[in-house]
Amino acid sequence: MRLLIQKFGGTSVQTKENRKHVIKQIKRALEKDYKLVVVVSALGRNPDPYATDTLLQMVDYPTKTQNSKRELDMLMSCGETIASVVLSNELQHHHISATALTGAQAGLITNDEYNEAKIKKVKPDRIKHELKNHDVVVVAGFQGRTESGDITTIGRGGSDTTAAAFGASLRAECIEIFTDVKGIMTADPRVVDSARPIDVVTYTETCNLAYQGAKVIHPRAVEIAMQAEIPLRIRSTYSNEIGTLITSSRGKEIGIDIPDRLVTSIAHIDDISQLSIKVNETDLRAQATIFQTMADASISVDFINISPTSVIYTVPSEVTTRAIALLEEKGFSIEVTENCAKVSAVGAGMTGIPGVAAKIANALVKNNVQILQSADSHTTIWVLIYEKHLKTAVNALHDVFELNKLTEIEKT
Ligand code: ASP
Ligand code: MG
Repeated sequence: MRLLIQKFGGTSVQTKENRKHVIKQIKRALEKDYKLVVVVSALGRNPDPYATDTLLQMVDYPTKTQNSKRELDMLMSCGETIASVVLSNELQHHHISATALTGAQAGLITNDEYNEAKIKKVKPDRIKHELKNHDVVVVAGFQGRTESGDITTIGRGGSDTTAAAFGASLRAECIEIFTDVKGIMTADPRVVDSARPIDVVTYTETCNLAYQGAKVIHPRAVEIAMQAEIPLRIRSTYSNEIGTLITSSRGKEIGIDIPDRLVTSIAHIDDISQLSIKVNETDLRAQATIFQTMADASISVDFINISPTSVIYTVPSEVTTRAIALLEEKGFSIEVTENCAKVSAVGAGMTGIPGVAAKIANALVKNNVQILQSADSHTTIWVLIYEKHLKTAVNALHDVFELNKLTEIEKT
């Protein structure tokens, strides 16, 4: 049996009109003799009646902090449950043999960290059984159950992760993530006019891009698919184009194994503040105290740069005031630079190649963009800049790495 996982996001299933495109995609796969597990998100976005945020509003979340997390999960799970039934019914009306399962029925077992539950195991026996009698099993994304049977959800945007988890455990041929964009882009098309979809990227590149602000897929889903070595595909619900293939080695599927581009895509995140704290060289504990203070307040820190005399790092804008207050309480004096943005150049092809950082620095300097801080790994170079330079910076890097042009692999 050839098995495919298809995941459709909230906007893809939002209206009957949109769902016609979903059904078209499902029919296309059935014509190729696949059986399908279709994972769905809740219908639409707030203020659509059954969207996740709309359901949360019914209990005044997040204003009322005394809400029980366990019950929030019962409420939020309704969105995906409704979506699975609606789509399954419409498929049946199109004479497609389909059935719907909740995450719990489908066998997604999690721990009991309500709202952010971690998948412990997947027991897909029921899905396997239903696939004997049906061509399509529609599974409610984002939700699971604890060992003892309580409903859980696995973190916002978690339907991608559901799709990957079932793809891995059922050893599907591919996990297709359908969305409203054509695939992973060389940069955010709202920032760079010549940004274009990429045909093949590696799991690692995609993970980096997803963590660095490219909102196209949940990074956890990529990690699960990578571990199981199941290819992922990100593609548009509304088009026949095959989108972006995510796999272990760029180009392997089409017979070429040598990455021919240093940088694959430019991602960015804005609304960041840089904190710079002077510490006394003789006070070794100060450095640890600073990070412990942040950790105790669940403030996530990034771009960490420690020297004997200073500690520099970034935090999201919305927690800046809180972070400063906590540090001042401990007697530190802090210099703050607000309205910063982080730009990331991601590419598996830069590993071991000298001169990439120089190319980035030159391109930015030439465009009068000041670099406030930088960091690098073997597949990513990050720079912190002023937010007012964001568009210039992203365009400069997109240009210098010629990301608007097709690569040799893509031309073949
Ligand atoms: N509906 C959930 C959310 O809005 C899960 C998802 O869409 O993936 O976060
Ligand atoms: Mg999503």
